[in-house]
Amino acid sequence: MTSPIAKLSFWGVRGSTPTVDPATWRYGGNTPCLELVAPDGTQFILDCGTGLRMLGNRWAEGINGASAETHILVTHYHWDHIQGLPFFAPLYVEKNQFQFYSFRSKFLGRDSLRQVFEAQMALPYFPVDFSAMSARRKFREVDGGESFQIGKNKVSARWLNHPQGCLGFRIETPAGIVAYATDNEPGDQVLEKNLRELATDADIFINDAQFTPAQLDSRRKGWGHSSWREGVNVAREVNAKTLVLFHHDPDSTDRIVDEILRDAREKFDSVFAASEGMVITLGAAGEPVQAHMPGSRTALRREAQFRACVSGVTAEGQKFEEETVVRDLSLQGALISLKHSPRIQSELQVTMQTPGAEGVQEMRLRGYVVRLEEGAERGTTAVGVVFTD
Ligand SMILES: [Zn+2]
Ligand SMILES: [Zn+2]
Repeated sequence: MTSPIAKLSFWGVRGSTPTVDPATWRYGGNTPCLELVAPDGTQFILDCGTGLRMLGNRWAEGINGASAETHILVTHYHWDHIQGLPFFAPLYVEKNQFQFYSFRSKFLGRDSLRQVFEAQMALPYFPVDFSAMSARRKFREVDGGESFQIGKNKVSARWLNHPQGCLGFRIETPAGIVAYATDNEPGDQVLEKNLRELATDADIFINDAQFTPAQLDSRRKGWGHSSWREGVNVAREVNAKTLVLFHHDPDSTDRIVDEILRDAREKFDSVFAASEGMVITLGAAGEPVQAHMPGSRTALRREAQFRACVSGVTAEGQKFEEETVVRDLSLQGALISLKHSPRIQSELQVTMQTPGAEGVQEMRLRGYVVRLEEGAERGTTAVGVVFTD
């Protein structure tokens, strides 16, 4: 019997506003949008940031294929969580059906989410009005404290500490538990308890990590966001297995997110920094949680062979250094065959011998592990790296 598998895809991971700065390219610039496909085929979308556009385009290509009805959970109405809605192509296709879930905002009253749709598409903010969306849409109001069943999955909603309110969601699937707690700040006793309820025994705990602990203690206090340190503390307290740092600050370059991730990994074993294109599978045989990072957005590849010395850290945390040959090289990255299996999202030093006009030269590059596959030769791992400088 095969075990039930859930698949969680990250389409947008940036907080507050999308970024197109090349320095944020590796983790990605689209605002929050996640897709979860449960083992029973139930399709969930968590938040409708600009990442939603990409997800919609993917469906249009027929790669994933939307199920009969898609369940869209919206945490709150700040721009970064709703911005993608008018650009979600499946909403303009008549046969599609969507069930939306969100809370009644005291600023909007009844049918808050429907009003958000209408306002976003009101003239002159958008070229076509609401009626152009021909897909079937149903709206359900959800309150903090509620739990309900969708297919074989149990969804629970809890209030989190954020200006004008925000819901966190916990989805219990037969393959494992996903807790989605974006946009929350520590400091309110009741709401902190809610956060812990959402994350208890979760296999994947996605938490707001917009600020560094130092920022959170000083000039960003009261902004409604959290840090990696809070995520680690909560994960430890309530036995969450894997922590995903989410909602990266628009001013956090890839380097800054690297540092945040490194700090978190010193304190907690299983941590990822959410990156656009990342896919986590839950419940696969052997390893309960497997993460796949996006490969480099392919580019000019060069058929070449360079002798190289590679050093890094294994998944078990051991330092290693080995000689290898780099065969598949592009401007942004390389596929390197190694006997060691480095940790995903860790840094590698790659020193390559490159022949040139003045003889063989050494080229030192800093790489970042985005992909691990079984190598062509027995006992090797094919390691995909993106060069960061
Ligand atoms: Zn946000
Ligand atoms: Zn917000």
